[in-house]
Amino acid sequence: MNWETVIGLEIHAQLATKSKIFSGSATAYGAAPNAQANLVDLGYPGVLPVLNGEAVRMAVSFGLAVNAQVAPRSVFARKNYFYPDLPKGYQISQYELPVVGRGSLEIVLEDGTRKRIGITRAHLEEDAGKSLHEGVAGASAIDLNRAGTPLIEIVSEPDMRSAKEAVAYMKKVHTLVRYLGICDGNMQEGSFRCDANVSVRPKGSDKFGTRAEIKNLNSFRFVEKAINFEVARQIDLLESGGKVVQETRLYDPDKGETRSMRSKEEANDYRYFPDPDLLPLEIDGAFLDAVRATLPELPDAKAARFAHEYGLSEYDAGVLTASRELAAYYEEVVRRLGGEPKLAANWVSGDLAAFLNRDNLEIDASRVGPAQLAGLVGRIADQTISGKIAKDVFEAMWVSGRDADAIIAEKGLRQITDTGAIERAIDEVMARNPGQLAEYRAGKDKLFGFFVGQTMKATQGKANPAQLNELLRKKLTGP
Ligand code: ADP
Ligand code: MG
Repeated sequence: MNWETVIGLEIHAQLATKSKIFSGSATAYGAAPNAQANLVDLGYPGVLPVLNGEAVRMAVSFGLAVNAQVAPRSVFARKNYFYPDLPKGYQISQYELPVVGRGSLEIVLEDGTRKRIGITRAHLEEDAGKSLHEGVAGASAIDLNRAGTPLIEIVSEPDMRSAKEAVAYMKKVHTLVRYLGICDGNMQEGSFRCDANVSVRPKGSDKFGTRAEIKNLNSFRFVEKAINFEVARQIDLLESGGKVVQETRLYDPDKGETRSMRSKEEANDYRYFPDPDLLPLEIDGAFLDAVRATLPELPDAKAARFAHEYGLSEYDAGVLTASRELAAYYEEVVRRLGGEPKLAANWVSGDLAAFLNRDNLEIDASRVGPAQLAGLVGRIADQTISGKIAKDVFEAMWVSGRDADAIIAEKGLRQITDTGAIERAIDEVMARNPGQLAEYRAGKDKLFGFFVGQTMKATQGKANPAQLNELLRKKLTGP
């Protein structure tokens, strides 16, 4: 049978506030266990939560960025469950009335197709603490530093139809929260993670299949692998006459498989009710306008501007606007060059991106800055060096931190554009290879590449490639 995959994601983004959502404790990552947990975070009886206004502003800015309805009135609810790292016995979340309602965003797939993904809601909630299973064998310890850290949970519609779409969606949300400055997006530290709900159904069916929820995926690669594994598992199960059960599963990156964790609770198991310690959250038009006024140029708008202003393809514009920092770097290169936007785009999304990736560096930590890259690209544009030599120069810049001009001068890499010099090199190569020359003239066109290679070699790769090709064609054809 032909199966269709259905995916909906619940993304948890940790809001980048300095203090917690209902207490004054710091949220900074990496402190000694329980150094950032006060009486509210410890769940002492009689203490009262006080809502952090900055967390509200951040949630609202997300809502505006995905064109969602921001609720004029939303309510905090207690979600009751027992967990050792949840001393209150409940998590403060939002349930029936979330602060952000329906919205959507657009993803662009590798082949250029665009798709709109619905956002059901985004609600504010507090994170729980952490159980640590290290140190004393057989014992666990509780660290409540994370307890009360503000999160927004962004729930999507079940609109995605492949792991690739799910990853594209998650990346788009990741880009967006970082543009907005509301989440640092650090996935290793768990600041941005998702639960993937996955089901399959016979293609053409209009009913959804039973879903499994894969918890706490904290890398794009894991999301893709976990979904693909889960889809295959469910199809196997159904085709062998079995049934998918609604449950929570965990992805094991070492084994590359998902495993059952527990059967899924129904919402009514949580006994949600409005938290009597917190007033409803009311948001008026003036507050919305004030938040709207702080929004930066958002990724879609920036990509459209890049495509238009710099003549880039939509795909390239999308790549270059994946983060604000990358976009700023690119614009700085173009500004310094005073032109050459396409060449600059190729270098930023090509060699530069590859080296950053190889060394696992963010753009802000690039070993070649925008001024230096502009220096290199300028030398390609003015034909001082060829694009091919430029790759070697770039590598040398990356390693040494020096400027392109210094490396070009020191290594004598300046391109040969003198027609006479190139012709002399060609003459020598022809003289040295009379056999190949005769074959070429007898119609073996393939040998053209051989002569290009030999002449390039004779000039240590420095001949201007376009000139070399043209002159070579003339000379080989003969008088
Ligand atoms: P819960 O909060 O219990 O996990 P929700 O109804 O809020 O349940 O749904 C959570 C997520 O599951 C949403 O992102 C939704 O799009 C997705 N989802 C719902 N039904 C399916 C399904 N049959 N297949 C895949 N995803 C689904
Ligand atoms: Mg869920």
